[in-house]
Amino acid sequence: MSRYRLAPSPQQGAILLRHCAHARYVWNLAVEQHASWRPGRTSAPGYLEQCRQLTAARAEHAWLREGSQMVQQQALRDFAQAMANFFAGTHRRPRWRKAGRGEGFRIVAVKPGDVRRLNRHWGEVRVPKAGWVRFRWSRAVPDGVKSFRVTRDRAGRWHVGFAAVPDPVSAPGNGNVVGIDRGVAVSAALSTGELLRVPGLTGREQVRLRRLQRKLARARRGSNRRGTVKTAVAKLSARETDRRKDWCEKASTGIARRFDVICVEDLNIRAMVRSARGTADAPGRNVAAKAGLNRGIRRSGWGILARRLQDKAPGRVERVSPAFTSQRCSACGHSAAESRESQALFRCVACTFACNADVNAARNIAAGHAVTARGGLGVARPANREPQLVLLPG
Ligand SMILES: [Zn+2]
Repeated sequence: MSRYRLAPSPQQGAILLRHCAHARYVWNLAVEQHASWRPGRTSAPGYLEQCRQLTAARAEHAWLREGSQMVQQQALRDFAQAMANFFAGTHRRPRWRKAGRGEGFRIVAVKPGDVRRLNRHWGEVRVPKAGWVRFRWSRAVPDGVKSFRVTRDRAGRWHVGFAAVPDPVSAPGNGNVVGIDRGVAVSAALSTGELLRVPGLTGREQVRLRRLQRKLARARRGSNRRGTVKTAVAKLSARETDRRKDWCEKASTGIARRFDVICVEDLNIRAMVRSARGTADAPGRNVAAKAGLNRGIRRSGWGILARRLQDKAPGRVERVSPAFTSQRCSACGHSAAESRESQALFRCVACTFACNADVNAARNIAAGHAVTARGGLGVARPANREPQLVLLPG
């Protein structure tokens, strides 16, 4: 998703706000329908049924009818996706949306002529009912834009984000298989021995960020100074995010070009990152330590890299169970926790094979070896009987 600052005229701003209100209204209706559902009743209405209800509601209410049908329908589609994510266990249950918080709507079926460049600094995009809305041309708009999302942040700033699925990178046809272990200290280790690192903020930028954060802590709530400092902090964080995304694009393209089959760990990142706080009944342990690890995982851009690989090498990415990949020797197959000499070093206690711990794990992932338990069935399994590989959902 590439995001650009949108600059609607006051009239257009009013129309965009109405689109947001409609999308929110429809979304909240869907949330309510699903919230009032109880086990034993007939199932809550699905997307198609909700679309029929929307048509009926538009026929009945003029204010809804005056809005864009596409905006309202896409809100239902977003909700259906959110429910699917919830049932898949990767996301939380979709919740109520409040006015002024995370407002936005989505436009689909975008035609090539609907986004155009005006001059060096400005472009414009066609939004239903609002017409051509100008945006800052801060970088090239990706080719083949199929949909975009218009959002309004809490500060009242508008943005447009263009979604484009990148063209698949063709397989090199060399039969090469690579395993990737995604770690915290090193962003990605390849079974070839390469260690890829996400560029973060430079030392000077980090110093500046810390200074700004101290300043922010001292600034009075609601003061002008607080606003200025907050913006400066947000700018630095945005720079870090941009660098991470850029790195993911380059790394994923490079890997998709060089290898026919790409093996990654089948990790549920969202579940891993989820707060360790737990519930009142079952409070979590190691909360602070886990929070630190979470920050590391987010910064290393795991999820984005896997998603980009999937986009660029469809059908060539295989998910391998990550169980014990860090304890198994990629040379002899012996599994022992003691072989993991340190966070960085793996030295097999059986055959004395030694290598970078993340690279060792990547080699196990490449081999598709999912060892079920220490010394268990997985180790004895013949090498030609690979454990079941699960393809990423499309
Ligand atoms: Zn060994």
